[in-house]
Amino acid sequence: MQLEFFGAAGEVTGSCHILRVAGHQLLLDCGMIQGDADAPARNRLPFPFDPTTIDAVILSHAHIDHCGRLPLLVKRGYRGPIYTNKACADLVPILLRDSANLAMRDAERERVEPLYDLEDVETTLRLLRPIAYDTRRELLPGVTVQVRDAGHILGSSSIEVWVSEQGEQRKLVFSGDLGQYDTPILKDPFAFGSADLVLMESTYGNRRHRGREDTERELDGILAQAHRDGGNVIVPAFAIGRSQELLYLLAKHYAEWHLARWKIFLDSPMAIAASRVYWNNPDRFDEETTRLRASFRGMPPLPNLVLSESADESRAINHLRSGALIIAGSGMANGGRVLHHLKHNLERPECHVVIVGFQAPGTLGRQLVDRAPEVRIHGQRVRCLAQVHTLGGLSAHGDQADLLRWYDSFAGHPPVYLVHGEVPSSEALAEKLREHGATATVARPGLSIDLANLPALSRD
Ligand SMILES: [Zn+2]
Repeated sequence: MQLEFFGAAGEVTGSCHILRVAGHQLLLDCGMIQGDADAPARNRLPFPFDPTTIDAVILSHAHIDHCGRLPLLVKRGYRGPIYTNKACADLVPILLRDSANLAMRDAERERVEPLYDLEDVETTLRLLRPIAYDTRRELLPGVTVQVRDAGHILGSSSIEVWVSEQGEQRKLVFSGDLGQYDTPILKDPFAFGSADLVLMESTYGNRRHRGREDTERELDGILAQAHRDGGNVIVPAFAIGRSQELLYLLAKHYAEWHLARWKIFLDSPMAIAASRVYWNNPDRFDEETTRLRASFRGMPPLPNLVLSESADESRAINHLRSGALIIAGSGMANGGRVLHHLKHNLERPECHVVIVGFQAPGTLGRQLVDRAPEVRIHGQRVRCLAQVHTLGGLSAHGDQADLLRWYDSFAGHPPVYLVHGEVPSSEALAEKLREHGATATVARPGLSIDLANLPALSRD
């Protein structure tokens, strides 16, 4: 029984780990590498295994850095089941089709073969096998799993894996991506209690977010100021997760924050589609959202919300000089409709830009966060005179305190391997985990662990 690290070891993206038990091979995630200039070339490299010899895949959640190379795996011959929970299986088509469209567009520009196309995606989607939360299921002889809430995006899970081989049994817990505790809409990350080995994300292993209430107050303050200034508000937001959280917060505080004076736009067909999936999976909601939903007989309404599907509808927003609150993608403003909104509003000091998610180096979003005096959009120079705010407290990832709290739910200090983090972040978390009694190691690609060598701590 062996676990080998392939992706998201020493970096944030490309999540993929290989579990070999009793002659069978299971993949945990098969994500896309994103960000660096060499990412496209790295995604094209051969897998360190023959895709036709993999017996099953289990997917933690629908983000592209976790599911984005599934169509490539299928293109290269994989035809086995892809297990994930139902809400995740509802979101995956939205992300993979978008990813194929981007790949095809890039390939046409660079005159190369696309990483995969829409047909590969459709073949992949037919392999999805939804499984229920909180229910044990034997996926392969010697491999039983159970998916639990991770509180990161809708349908995100942490995965318990029981493996047995030659009379030895061990339990591995893979965190997937962990959300903040008390995230709007979603349930908190599940507290496991026991494991022989923990595989844990460390995106924000060295950071602390601002508290939830402070963050909401700050957003209220920004909107009030923007109203006094008489401009527009632009929010670059990821289509899945941040957009729905924002809509939920705006609806919840509609009266209190005097939001009737705004015209609110969700300007992203992908975010609109993802929102429908969110609102159609109420069994994944936390107590507060369930209560609100019951009292409104549906999701809390946002009467002045305009869903802007077509490009013409999106362009029409450009004529509004004040009172528009525009949520548009992409989340890091490195493409998408948010670009033309920024082009029309950045040079106006009465306008505000609210950054709600992680901004990778090199993106336009990061330049805004770093207060660049001038940026380039669609080849044009645009001065940044609008007011830019960064709301760290809306992140989809837990901070250091959240990650430690999650680890502390395990009895007996099981050993931890840290994945899904830049090295400084993973190292900082490893240091903290050692203070909490753990043996913590930062995973590197190609590292392989023999699970039978670990002491058996868990009794379930
Ligand atoms: Zn994620």
